[in-house]
Amino acid sequence: MAQTHDHDAHPHSDHSQGDHPHAAHHGSALSPMELRVRALESVLVEKGYVDPAALDALIETYETQVGPHNGARVVARAWVDPDFRARLLADATPAMRELGVGGRGGEHMVVVANTPETHNLVVCTLCSCYPWPVLGLPPVWYKSPPYRARAVIEPRAVLAEFGLTLPAGQRIRVWDSTAELRYMVLPMRPAGTEALDEAALAALVTRDAMIGTGLPEVGA
Ligand code: FE
Repeated sequence: MAQTHDHDAHPHSDHSQGDHPHAAHHGSALSPMELRVRALESVLVEKGYVDPAALDALIETYETQVGPHNGARVVARAWVDPDFRARLLADATPAMRELGVGGRGGEHMVVVANTPETHNLVVCTLCSCYPWPVLGLPPVWYKSPPYRARAVIEPRAVLAEFGLTLPAGQRIRVWDSTAELRYMVLPMRPAGTEALDEAALAALVTRDAMIGTGLPEVGA
């Protein structure tokens, strides 16, 4: 697939869908994308190309078992266990496997840690490589040409559009995921969370915080 340099496209025109993946479930109205998916599924089932039960099982797996909660457990463990953190940063794949996290699409994981000096941001400029077993389904914006092109060229502007304004002195490092190597960001543990246990800490870790387009949400 060719690399896209679509600088003039509207930045994150589908941003709201990606940012609020559950919003559509709160109302009865389906988004245009959901309508298209539903129509496509109907045709495929009608023609006998797919078994609806198999589709449901696959989707349920990714919605309930595989998801950002896996990555969040990894982050929380790294926050409370310095030895695990060291193993994670040295060789992420086996470290994650200690927590039962891993599998297809996460065979070669690299974890990059945010520091006061450096904020990390993950993109796949070529297509949409994403650590599925760690973060679940990729958000729509992650796969969009504007994000893929602009994350590399003007990461600070892209982060601002996500509502994330970093200190001027904190540099941004952009990591380009591939099919062979997929990155996850280890965010910094937020101040004021000293009393929280591991499970409570994991609840602060959002998907975006592990892509680098957000930070852990304290009090969310
Ligand atoms: Fe890709």
